[in-house]
Amino acid sequence: LFICCSVLMEGSDYAKYKDPKQPLNVRINDLLSRMTLAEKIGQMSQIARENATYDVIKNYFIGSVLSGGGSVPAPNASAETWMNMINDMQKAALSTRLGIPMIYGIDAVHGHNNVYNATIFPHNIGLGATRDPALVKKIGAATALEVRATGIPYVFAPCVAVCRDPRWGRCYESYSEDPKVVEEMTEIIPGLQGDIPADSRKGVPFVAGTRNVAACAKHYVGDGGTYMGINENNTIISQHGLLSIHMPPYYHAIIKGVSTVMVSYSSWNGVKMHANHYLVTDFLKGLLHFRGFVISDWEGIDRITSPPHANYSYSIQAGISAGIDMVMIPYAFKEFKDDLTYQVQNNIIPMSRIDDAVRRILRVKFTMGLFEHPFADPSLVDQLGKKEHRELARTAVRKSLVLLKNGKTADNSILPLPKKPVKILIAGSHADNLGYQCGGWTISWQGLSGNNLTTGTTILNAIQSTVDAKTEVIYSKNPDSGFISCNNFSYAIVVVGEHPYAETDGDNLNLTIPDPGPEVIQNVCSSMKCVVILISGRPLVIEPYINKIDALVAAWLPGTEGQGVADVLFGDYGFSGKLPRTWFKSVDQLPMNVGDPHYDPLFPFGFGLTTEPANAN
Ligand code: BGC
Repeated sequence: LFICCSVLMEGSDYAKYKDPKQPLNVRINDLLSRMTLAEKIGQMSQIARENATYDVIKNYFIGSVLSGGGSVPAPNASAETWMNMINDMQKAALSTRLGIPMIYGIDAVHGHNNVYNATIFPHNIGLGATRDPALVKKIGAATALEVRATGIPYVFAPCVAVCRDPRWGRCYESYSEDPKVVEEMTEIIPGLQGDIPADSRKGVPFVAGTRNVAACAKHYVGDGGTYMGINENNTIISQHGLLSIHMPPYYHAIIKGVSTVMVSYSSWNGVKMHANHYLVTDFLKGLLHFRGFVISDWEGIDRITSPPHANYSYSIQAGISAGIDMVMIPYAFKEFKDDLTYQVQNNIIPMSRIDDAVRRILRVKFTMGLFEHPFADPSLVDQLGKKEHRELARTAVRKSLVLLKNGKTADNSILPLPKKPVKILIAGSHADNLGYQCGGWTISWQGLSGNNLTTGTTILNAIQSTVDAKTEVIYSKNPDSGFISCNNFSYAIVVVGEHPYAETDGDNLNLTIPDPGPEVIQNVCSSMKCVVILISGRPLVIEPYINKIDALVAAWLPGTEGQGVADVLFGDYGFSGKLPRTWFKSVDQLPMNVGDPHYDPLFPFGFGLTTEPANAN
């Protein structure tokens, strides 16, 4: 009778893995036991959006698809366009024999930055300056909602690099040079994924539900410690140094239930991280008990050899054997699949390694509820760029600003500025440029210039709407002395800085303020009282001009809500940000980090003047 009843209850197409009432491990084991090698290798493969046709996903059982930086379905694509595109891919995945949902991933590294009209939060360096983990957690939750609004359940964030050298082009993706600050900022993970239940075991991936996304701590490990800050280069450091400087954020990310970890392109003492069995398998999966999946970086396996892809078969063997579970293979999928199949069939790579990888991927997919909710939730569409998120970003901007100088002498402070009717000069190319404010990883991989890339408020607009209606605001990118002397300005706000960049393109040995920034500072600040606002992904050489400047503000890469800058400049709120990095005097001091023996910075780590709100002005 019992057997008969359970058969009746379960029905002919009952499968334990499809039953959400079954324990997680039962579901994983059941599904794994049904899978062919081709289906397993499909799960381990993440291909680029451009190649993810219905047939490719269906025929090769593709487990994951990504939008690499700036890979958008159409310029200004709406949330609905994204949703429809991803739903179509999901239909292909669900049409396969076992109907395993694919997981779509995207680089939402400062808000949902690939999508038009999304809220763009300050880049991580600015969030590091806030020293406010609770705020960063809220940013994670808002980002998750905006990402889900486009039907995407997975983000390649946060970057928990501990950047030890600002010459590195990814310095702004790092919260701080100090592991402690980066550790604290891993609070973004429970923001993105939802709060992990108190009884949850360490190392187990966790995603609360369909309003949250799976996160990815990257780039494991030592990406911020490369020689001279050269991107993807060699991190030469003792094991003690690696474990005490670069590893701590991963302990915290794992305790907080991070679902995935991305491996770094860089090497540790000459060994490519993508081939480092000790750090990926023994340490991360073994000692740290990480139970989510390890994903490679974009063509990261291909780059195990030099030149990349030189001996692909060897690279596949080294990468998979090191412990990589999901392979970001934007283009070479078929070669990868054929080669890995051959290696497994010939016992070069054991099936147990493949099963470990697939188990981890399925664990994340089951934990997230992807089997029960594979499609986008259309009711979330309104979340994209919504007012509350923009308010949150504006708060983050206010708190991220670091006041480095206020007045030529201590009793001569000029901030906060008065709003009352005066004539003020706004100068510099960065005052009215949303693209510059947002930096790299915004709409396009390398970032963009100008005001049309997305919606938001430039610093100039923000100032105009903050000052008294009778105040005259005159904007000139690079005013000459004639223009300055024939106008009767009360003071000037100069906004200059870096132009957008991402990854290797941002590596820079000089760290000077790009032209004509220095000239604008000289011209304006030698003629009148001036506040200089630096828009940059890292400290820049400022020492030669510092005596000319009355007030200096590091605004980092604040994102779309420029209003936050005006809020603080004009005293509606006080300055409170603290330097997340050491501000060097000259580049020949680099690398220089807090705690170094001959520490002699222009402004030390943690420095930041404060002002009180001045509501009366
Ligand atoms: C970057 C990663 C990023 C990936 C996908 C790589 O070039 O190093 O940080 O997540 O591309 O866009």
